[in-house]
Amino acid sequence: MSGAVLRILIADDDEGDRKQIKRAIHQAGLQCECTETSSTEQALEICEQSEFDCVIFDYRLPGQDGLAGITALHERFPHLPIIMSTGHGDELIAADAMKRGASDYIPKANVNALSMHRIIGNVIEKASLHRKVRQQQEELEIFARVLVHDLRAPAAAVQTFATRIAERLASGEPEKALEYANWVIQTAERMNLLIETLHRYTTADAKITFEPVDMNRAFEAALNNLQDLIQAAGARVTAANLPNVLGNAPQLIQLLQNLIGNGMKFCDDPAPRIQVAASENEGGGWLFSVSDNGIGIPDAHCKRIFEPFVRLTGRSKRKGSGLGLATCKKIVDRHLGSIWCESKQGSGTTFFFTLSAANLQPEGNDRPTLPANVSASLCQPAEAKCSEPFMHLEFPASL
Ligand code: ADP
Repeated sequence: MSGAVLRILIADDDEGDRKQIKRAIHQAGLQCECTETSSTEQALEICEQSEFDCVIFDYRLPGQDGLAGITALHERFPHLPIIMSTGHGDELIAADAMKRGASDYIPKANVNALSMHRIIGNVIEKASLHRKVRQQQEELEIFARVLVHDLRAPAAAVQTFATRIAERLASGEPEKALEYANWVIQTAERMNLLIETLHRYTTADAKITFEPVDMNRAFEAALNNLQDLIQAAGARVTAANLPNVLGNAPQLIQLLQNLIGNGMKFCDDPAPRIQVAASENEGGGWLFSVSDNGIGIPDAHCKRIFEPFVRLTGRSKRKGSGLGLATCKKIVDRHLGSIWCESKQGSGTTFFFTLSAANLQPEGNDRPTLPANVSASLCQPAEAKCSEPFMHLEFPASL
């Protein structure tokens, strides 16, 4: 375990015990930011306000029986690892606590550098594995949803159109057959687009290498991929001098492409303007922004839009899958950064993302280990929410 700072909440009413735990954590060489509390109620409140990588929870906290405290904590924060600290002879209770959601327990008499290192490492590792399993389940749900809801209807429509084409040709009505053939082409194009978007979303998890990337070149590549759309929209897309970063070039191009593409798509201004900029981040790394003069996003939806399939606008006006920003989030997560947006409805949106300067392995071929595993965000996974089906088919009136 190295690199990231772990955020640990110590809930214990005995100041001496809290000190002992902190000392052991410090001696274990773990980089930790410890927050202390002496009651279950306060622990719940603190967890509501901030995210932690794990909680060390005294079984004998005043005010509430320990097991009820564990239950309450686990129910409210099901993905937060809880280590229960117990007194001598409490081992049976500890077993009960684990049934109620504690990840592990440690007798107070055994609190030392070695045991703290082992136990904190274990529970965080376990939480990280659970997170991976949840992500995979979420991805399976997305696949199933796309197959069942979004591809089934257009596949059936293609079959119907093809039958009609055959019928019209047989009855000597080639113009009508041509009309149906155009519908087949359009529907197949949309199905391809969906499969392509889904592919990009799922492959954002594939093994990648990190290397120095000139973001000016990534920006140019994104513009190149979008050139037809930029021309059609009459958009002006500019970038100030962008930095070199450590990252994966194809993913960073995809990230810029999705954000710039959205800037044009969600814009009613006859002259869409999109500006990409970057500045050094206070905590190291870079802060990028992609600003547009588009329709804006209501505050209440600024978080939701990064979840798969969440779309705020009607489908017929602006086509899309609802997977674009979810893909951006995956990419930024893999680069150990954050992504968010600020917007004023009606007068444009700015998407921000950070790219970390540290912890990426230049020659590595996989997700960096600890920082991602211990990220506090593992306690709050985004859940897949389905808003509306991707495909919007406007069938010919005569069908
Ligand atoms: P899609 O573009 O396929 O609809 P995204 O995941 O890229 O899906 O975006 C999700 C939703 O967020 C969009 O449907 C839209 O409602 C909103 N959105 C994204 N980018 C912008 C933007 N630049 N301006 C306004 N709304 C946006």
